[in-house]
Amino acid sequence: MQIIETTYKWAGTLARRSATRRIILHHAAAVTCTPQQVHQWHLANGWSGIGYHFFVRKDGSVYRGRPEDTVGAHAGNNNYDSIGVCFEGSFDREEMPAAQKQAGMELVAYLKQKYGISTVQRHSDVNATGCPGGHFPFEELAGAQTSAPAAPAARAGGTAVTLPLLAQGSRSETVRLAQAALTGLGYDAGGADGIFGANTAAAVKRFQAAHGLAADGIVGRDTWHALLGV
Ligand SMILES: [Zn+2]
Repeated sequence: MQIIETTYKWAGTLARRSATRRIILHHAAAVTCTPQQVHQWHLANGWSGIGYHFFVRKDGSVYRGRPEDTVGAHAGNNNYDSIGVCFEGSFDREEMPAAQKQAGMELVAYLKQKYGISTVQRHSDVNATGCPGGHFPFEELAGAQTSAPAAPAARAGGTAVTLPLLAQGSRSETVRLAQAALTGLGYDAGGADGIFGANTAAAVKRFQAAHGLAADGIVGRDTWHALLGV
């Protein structure tokens, strides 16, 4: 999944979000619009700029909105622990195109895995609003999972081991395993010392980019699969 980085001019400082517990889904309530237009609308509301963290267009392109680690402006007093995703369109009166739905499912699955969360809500679940509309394919989007249903089990000498999510700062024998696999495939992880530092993160990102994975430097299900061929 590719996220299109977008440059916005912010009115004011964006506060960091301290927790990420859920994803809240919206529609733009406009049949056609761009993230830059939404940014202008939200500036006109007196906000710092686009209130959503992601914006999914009808053609399936996914744009970044507000930086992912900041507090959004999309769901009133539910902004403090949520990521806001908005879909171009007005789903009170139209159906979502297949490309947009597919991209939205990939984004939701990616965010669930990245933050280890499973709660997905409609805007109307938390505020008095008709957003995201009665034709919005909420069940499909909210239920999206990465292709593997459970953590992969790697066969090591006949013993199945569960592979945890690894990120910079992790220290374990499993980190050593990932480093050894990366090194063996030609991605210099700075040795196999069991400490997930900057060199390992950089090697993971290079490996992910070369394998069509989101290059976030986090070893999750998909990266484990690619790394170990399981
Ligand atoms: Zn909304």
